[in-house]
Amino acid sequence: MSSIQQNINQIIAAYPSVKLVAVTKTHPISVLQETYNGGYKIFGENKVQELTDKYEQLPKDIEWHLIGHLQTNKVKYIAPFVYMIHSIDSLKLLKEVNKRAAQNNRTIKVLLQIHISNETTKFGMSEQECEDLLRNEEIKSFNNIQIAGVMGMASFTDDETIIRNQFKSLKKFFNQLKKEYFSSSTKFKEVSMGMSGDYKIAIEEGSTIIRVGSSIFGNRNYNQ
Ligand SMILES: *Cc1c(COP(=O)(O)O)cnc(C)c1O
Repeated sequence: MSSIQQNINQIIAAYPSVKLVAVTKTHPISVLQETYNGGYKIFGENKVQELTDKYEQLPKDIEWHLIGHLQTNKVKYIAPFVYMIHSIDSLKLLKEVNKRAAQNNRTIKVLLQIHISNETTKFGMSEQECEDLLRNEEIKSFNNIQIAGVMGMASFTDDETIIRNQFKSLKKFFNQLKKEYFSSSTKFKEVSMGMSGDYKIAIEEGSTIIRVGSSIFGNRNYNQ
């Protein structure tokens, strides 16, 4: 068994009720193919071009997650196949995803990305912006998306208390949204939080989807 497969198996054995998105960004097709051959097929990418290239070259039963920032004008490239988009940060983007999903006769699962860190460089909506989006009457007509939950990224810090509090606040906000806007639905259920450095804390704080790259595939080389 390859070390990639061992790493994946360790995580899923330790946390069987959490969905693991194996973050394959920057890694070549051969690594994804090897992972697939080992039996794992839930992959996350953060760039549309790279995601589309990989989709085209790999088996078609892979479950693809777009985890990085998405520009409205690029939705059309991933709408035919993407399983879940973790990075919805505006009504305009949500509307475009719905439109392109409809053109492809599909329903795309989406997560509302919430800004939980104290860093200014990370994308996502404030809690207020997210609630404004959910209060907009227009979204009731979006029949080709399924709002499945929220996503957030904690600060890049060694201070576990800061990270834990940010995850706690996301989970709390998720519960609040569920009560206020999704009380009649069982489909708003996902909290996507936790990466290589912090997924254990995230799971303790109620994560349902973790996005793990370097702990599985090793460090990324951005200069290739
Ligand atoms: C790269 C990335 C990850 C995975 O990061 P690792 O630290 O390698 O596990 C998770 N989420 C997002 C949004 C990413 O861009």
